[in-house]
This record gives sequence, structure tokens and C-alpha cells, in this order.
Amino acid sequence: MPRWQRQNRDAVVSYRLARQRTVAAVEAGHRTEHEVCDAQPELRRVAHNHGKPLDDDCPLCESDDLVLVTFAFGPGLPKAGRCVTDPAEMARLRRRPKPTTCYRVEVCRQCWWNHLRESFELPPAQVAKTAP
Ligand SMILES: [Zn+2]
Repeated sequence: MPRWQRQNRDAVVSYRLARQRTVAAVEAGHRTEHEVCDAQPELRRVAHNHGKPLDDDCPLCESDDLVLVTFAFGPGLPKAGRCVTDPAEMARLRRRPKPTTCYRVEVCRQCWWNHLRESFELPPAQVAKTAP
């Protein structure tokens, strides 16, 4: 995992178990692929243009076209989140004096499987105070 995407000090929540349950539910016939391969148009666009390739294959169609996209949410950011497209954008987010939550979603660009992979908090940057 590239270091710029998150750092060890970030509090990370993994959604791996939820992912395994979803895949198992499809394999058992309790959910359909149509239900879980439902990436919305904006997510598809972001995955197509800014997705970072993952080593894993898609858990549903086994394509190797599985990518990761990162969105940031917090005060002062767009309601729909800001897509983090490069290390410079992540560095800018780390300098914000406001709390920021990043969500990383895996998206298959073949079948449009998508699942929240993890989230992590970026603590507000400490803003240097100028002397009065
Ligand atoms: Zn797939």
C-alpha cells in the first residue's frame, strides 16, 4: 500500500469482515451480483479515471481490474466528498486544521462490484499560532 494513502498513525477501521460476508451471501445465493455490483455513475467515473490498481482480483468476477478510490469528508469539503487523486491532494488534506475522514472503496472496473474497504481519520493539523 503506498504510504501516501494512509499512515500508520491513522486510526483505521477495516471492513474486511463485512466484505467477506457480502461475498459469502452472493455465493450462497442470498444476494445477487446485480445487488452488489452496483457502482453509481460517479463512482464508476472516479474508478475509471483515478483508481489505483490493487493486487487482489475481484471477489465476484475474478477480474484483475480491481482498483481503489479514496474519498475525503469533513467540514469545508464537498458534501459528496472529495476524491483524493494523488499524494499532493492527501498532503493538503493532512494540513487541514479540521478533522477529515477518508473512505477507501474497492471497485471492479469489469463488473462494478464495489465495497468499502477501510476508513481512517486524519487528525486536524496543529495550526501555528502567531504571537499577539
Ligand atoms: Zn468484478
